[in-house]
Amino acid sequence: RAKLDGPGGLQFFQQHHHDELVREQRMVEQLELAIEHRELSLHYQPQVSVVSGRIENLEALLRWQPRDSSSFVPPGEFISLAERSGLIHRLGDWVMEEVCRQQAAWRRAGFSTSRVDINLSGRQMLRPDTLARFEACLERYGLTPQDIGIELTENVLIEAAPLVLEDLRRLYHRGVRIAIDDFGTGYSSLSYLKHFPVTALKVDRAFMRDAPKQPEDRAIMEAAIFIGHRLGLEVVAEGVESAEQLSLIREMRCDLAQGYFFYRPMPAPDIQVLLGGTAGWSR
Ligand code: C2E
Ligand code: MG
Ligand code: MG
Ligand code: MG
Repeated sequence: RAKLDGPGGLQFFQQHHHDELVREQRMVEQLELAIEHRELSLHYQPQVSVVSGRIENLEALLRWQPRDSSSFVPPGEFISLAERSGLIHRLGDWVMEEVCRQQAAWRRAGFSTSRVDINLSGRQMLRPDTLARFEACLERYGLTPQDIGIELTENVLIEAAPLVLEDLRRLYHRGVRIAIDDFGTGYSSLSYLKHFPVTALKVDRAFMRDAPKQPEDRAIMEAAIFIGHRLGLEVVAEGVESAEQLSLIREMRCDLAQGYFFYRPMPAPDIQVLLGGTAGWSR
């Protein structure tokens, strides 16, 4: 308090706060136009089998490059902004549509890329029709429930309304893969795992990052993999950046790995090159 009252203190704080709000408001306005200005795109990051190294799955990650800018605004910045301003619904619908369109095109071209997963955030899951839209989108593009999966954080699951959970359960029974993202970082007890329809755990990369040096992180990773397997879930390690980390999760019998050690998120054309050229790839 004394500090804020001091010379330049409170005033500095207010000015700073004001600048921040102005910046945010400008970003919201830009983001509102991002779709019609074609500033959004998706990058895809492969997930590989820890055993065979084979690409099993892709995660779609939203990218925003404002047209007057030479770089991407990180999702960490604009997704939370989109959540607060409600724009997330429009962005989320765009992601769904674009992922389905891309996956259908890959299928037609003979790519046997398995699934593409999309991220759904809190406010998206609070809208009662998000999952119905998802199903409609699959249908419109002639895709099966196995073609596109979804990732949710545990907090999002816990805060979901009963009707939304009913939809989620229906998707689960139709064979949609439902992964818990950033597993181990939520504030809930583990008991939610028995109430919710999920098929996979993605262990947060914070544990992976320190696992080589910190026995505690290693223990948590190991426990997460163990519990996931005992519950019949697939376990994915996020943020694998080194051979050392890979050998750790291999020893722990983790199923899938995702991280810069294998592949960075990349635009669709690079994925096609990776999977064997644009002419079609099958195995
Ligand atoms: P996430 O779903 O946990 O996605 C994984 C993030 O980890 C991605 O960051 C990815 O680029 C990054 N990553 C992958 N491998 C490594 C690694 O080896 N090391 C490190 N340091 N990072 C790695 P990104 O693309 O910046 O996305 C951040 C978050 O934004 C995502 O976290 C997700 O929560 C959200 N997000 C991204 N796209 C969408 C979207 O389409 N819709 C929604 N609702 N949220 C999205
Ligand atoms: Mg994710
Ligand atoms: Mg994650
Ligand atoms: Mg995350």
